[in-house]
Amino acid sequence: MDKIIVISMCLMGIKCRYDGRSIPWEELKFLKGRFFILPVCPEQLGGLPTPRPPAKIEREDGFSVLEGKSRVLTIEEKDDVTENFIRGAQETLKIVNTFREDIKAVILKEKSPSCGVKTIYNFNSDSLKAGKGVAAALFIKNGYRVLSSDELEKIKKL
Ligand code: SF4
Repeated sequence: MDKIIVISMCLMGIKCRYDGRSIPWEELKFLKGRFFILPVCPEQLGGLPTPRPPAKIEREDGFSVLEGKSRVLTIEEKDDVTENFIRGAQETLKIVNTFREDIKAVILKEKSPSCGVKTIYNFNSDSLKAGKGVAAALFIKNGYRVLSSDELEKIKKL
């Protein structure tokens, strides 16, 4: 039936980002009339508060975190929040799997250590590198069509 779009909750104007802010929902609002929208925030589902200290993936990307080869650490204090990120991705997947046959695509917020689809931040600098966030990697591993919030033209064709 393909009726549901899963979307990073911060993209809908909901203030769940690490800094307590959101992204204006205007650009993607056209989806509202065409699909049922299922908003999710993996970091909140992993038990992290809002606002929360920003975090980055230490080495490689979300796939390495899922395989136990890398960690997610807060930028300032270097607190290990890997368990929260993995749990959040798994809980998000659990929700989405409930509607599996009806999911058209998963649209995730680019550059986030959870939701980044094409790019994430380098651990030791403010520069970007190719890679997936932890939740994006888990959705891809589980066979979902995952689109970046930056892929507006592809999203318009859904
Ligand atoms: Fe939550 Fe993902 Fe948005 Fe971060 S990018 S606030 S984890 S929905």
